[in-house]
Amino acid sequence: MARAARSGNINAGRNSVDQQRLAYFRERREEMVSTIRELVEIESPSDNKSAVDRMAETVAQKFATLGGQIRLHHAADFGNHLQVDFSGKRGGKPVLLLGHYDTVYPLGTLASMPCRIVDNKLTGPGVLDMKSGIGLMLYALAGLRSWDGALPRPITVLLVSDEEVGSDSSRAITESLAKKAAAVLVLEPSYGFEGAVKTARKGVGEYAVRVTGKASHAGLDFQKGVNAILELARQIERVSGFTDLKKRLTVNVGIVSGGSRTNVVPAEATAQVDVRIARLKDAAGIDKKMRSLRPYNRKCKLEITGGINRPPMERTAGVAALYAKAVAIARELGWKLGEAAVGGGSDGNFTAGLGIPTLDGLGGVGDGAHAVHEHILIPELPRRAALIAGLIESV
Ligand SMILES: [Zn+2]
Repeated sequence: MARAARSGNINAGRNSVDQQRLAYFRERREEMVSTIRELVEIESPSDNKSAVDRMAETVAQKFATLGGQIRLHHAADFGNHLQVDFSGKRGGKPVLLLGHYDTVYPLGTLASMPCRIVDNKLTGPGVLDMKSGIGLMLYALAGLRSWDGALPRPITVLLVSDEEVGSDSSRAITESLAKKAAAVLVLEPSYGFEGAVKTARKGVGEYAVRVTGKASHAGLDFQKGVNAILELARQIERVSGFTDLKKRLTVNVGIVSGGSRTNVVPAEATAQVDVRIARLKDAAGIDKKMRSLRPYNRKCKLEITGGINRPPMERTAGVAALYAKAVAIARELGWKLGEAAVGGGSDGNFTAGLGIPTLDGLGGVGDGAHAVHEHILIPELPRRAALIAGLIESV
């Protein structure tokens, strides 16, 4: 139905297809909410393999019902990653739908943060980041299948289990599937209550600066000691000075530890540092600066570990073209879709870093990711699903 009507040359015809699609999702709004709710009520903290594996099984079944070929990638230290392949009416490269089912919330969080409907909002741990995104994938695929009797094109879904803890175990899978894809649609939360998509994300680095000095009695042998905390304080001052707001490059010392007792000159101190870069060309420079740190007090030893973990997602021509398509589809659905550049990273950084056109923030609309007030706006679900379906078809 969709294809035939879309090829008509009068606007009213196109418009009515979009309105029919919207109506399809509006009729299924409560069903979508209950699917998302089911996913939220299976808690899946990144660091609990058996919990995340349970989540993977549940989600795999739902995609299998839609005709997808299931493949679980075994991960030893994290939950398994789920790949689902769908064939389509036409051949060619698949579109990759990317996301994660791990959350930042420990088991038992549901007790204090239950999944509830309040004022057209659905609350609960991970509802925005990003279990609603998984629900939207399922319904967009169901819609496409029912309108045309089959999916219009090959589609690969990848849901990983370790995104919230850096994606070390899934990165290679994400990158290899992205390389085969025509485009990557990331169903991470959208930006703001208007539901803007994300066309740029900062790259993220993590470093540890570890100082070793020499312990001594602060009263009896003060001068024999080498104070590691004092040295670290100087290093903190130095690395914080690497921040360059004009380049949108930031260095944040987020955690410090060290020392044992007040009456001991501390032998050890460590700072953990978060680095954000907006441009890939700034990666090598800041990495070199971090690695070139030298002790102020030569009696101290300095050890720097870590590196740039995610490259930035830059707004390349490929990203801009994908965004333009999304804007056109949203316009037909009667809405003006905005875009945002954000500081947080996602697995979309990896795929964009490979030069594959990537559009992020296509998932739920709401607020409070990783926070007690996490929620999505239920009325946004139908047009979001229609947008995703339209993009799958046209990229
Ligand atoms: Zn997320």
